[in-house]
Amino acid sequence: MLHDAGHFLALVNPAIALLLSLCFLLVWNHERARHYLLQVGACYLLYAIAIGLQIIWPPRNGGGNATVTGAFYLGSGVLLLRGMLARIGARSDRCTVVALPLILFGMLAWFDLVQPNLVARIYILNVGIALILLLGIAPLARLRTGRTVDRVLFWVFLVFALQFLPRTVLTLAPVGAHDAAVLTRTAYWLWLQATLALMLLTLALTLLAATAQDVIDRLRHERDTDPLTQLHTRRSLEALAAHHIPPRPGEKLSVLLCDLDFFKFINDNYGHSAGDAVLTQVGRIIAAGIRRRDIAARLGGEEFVVLLPDTPHDAALQLAERLRQTLEQTSIDVLPGMHTVTASFGVATLRPGEDLEALLMRADNVLYVAKNNGRNCVEWEREAGLPALA
Ligand code: GH3
Ligand code: MG
Ligand code: MG
Repeated sequence: MLHDAGHFLALVNPAIALLLSLCFLLVWNHERARHYLLQVGACYLLYAIAIGLQIIWPPRNGGGNATVTGAFYLGSGVLLLRGMLARIGARSDRCTVVALPLILFGMLAWFDLVQPNLVARIYILNVGIALILLLGIAPLARLRTGRTVDRVLFWVFLVFALQFLPRTVLTLAPVGAHDAAVLTRTAYWLWLQATLALMLLTLALTLLAATAQDVIDRLRHERDTDPLTQLHTRRSLEALAAHHIPPRPGEKLSVLLCDLDFFKFINDNYGHSAGDAVLTQVGRIIAAGIRRRDIAARLGGEEFVVLLPDTPHDAALQLAERLRQTLEQTSIDVLPGMHTVTASFGVATLRPGEDLEALLMRADNVLYVAKNNGRNCVEWEREAGLPALA
């Protein structure tokens, strides 16, 4: 009876691994570009096969079963390592993924078929898998400086890799007789398998949580980034502006609004896709001309805005003038014959109690003045008595 219950419990282990494998494959089906999901899914599948084989086909010394299940376990370890590395864009070196598992496999086969020895096989398999996984620790160490989920993933993976070492001793402790068939029928072996299943479950859930976070972050990035210019969208600008309005005591927040001159002419004469290419290049010029903490966004069409934290009005005017000159002097390769584009700028500085919308409205008003003044110039609220351009 106890033996039957043990047998049943043992089958839970491969069943869980199979379900986890299915989970990874389903997620991969949605996120085909994330190849590591396929590798980790295959890792769990091989593990389920290995553990399943061990239960329905109990290993006997010299029977060849241990060689076959060993190959599945080793393959599973290699796939886990490759999956973990692929996720962070690191490559697994050939020595780790080919040579080391092949040597370990050769040793396993030797101690199964030529000179049967259970103790040696347990050592080779556990220490071998630990070695394979630990070789990934150096490249994976960069996860420690990442998001919380990445840091948790790193430590779970490290503990998972290391637990194979004490597992060797623990597996051997009750097996004085060195009998593989007896070993797989002990409650102790079941306990070891249960802890391994728990570790594999923890690792899978952490990895799936990290994948979910990756997808959410990518969607957030897509939502907040203008695809044409890679600058912020209006929505993102508004969210980030909330951190800077109101500004800290003693600091000034300024904004510059920039609208390309005669852009309709560019579209009409060179085509919409040339217009898009111009917007992309202008986006790059603006991004290159501002400081790290400045927030540049495309408001739609050919209108750009740069939010300038801790920037008084005169510094904002100087930046606008510098950007205007850079634009005027940069040749735009998609425009044969025309070569350059110009833009008009409106600059405004936040007044006490004002919100972003009111600030942008004032900047828009002075931008309108710049357009009326003949374009390709910087305008500001002169009636406010603020300093003119140097
Ligand atoms: P002004 O100097 O007065 O600003 O003249 P303008 O021609 O630049 O101004 P107007 O607002 O009349 O034209 C803006 C044009 O920008 C009209 C529209 O076709 C074009 N446009 C808006 N969004 C996009 C876009 O995403 N890509 C491209 N290629 N063109 C766009
Ligand atoms: Mg325009
Ligand atoms: Mg416009």
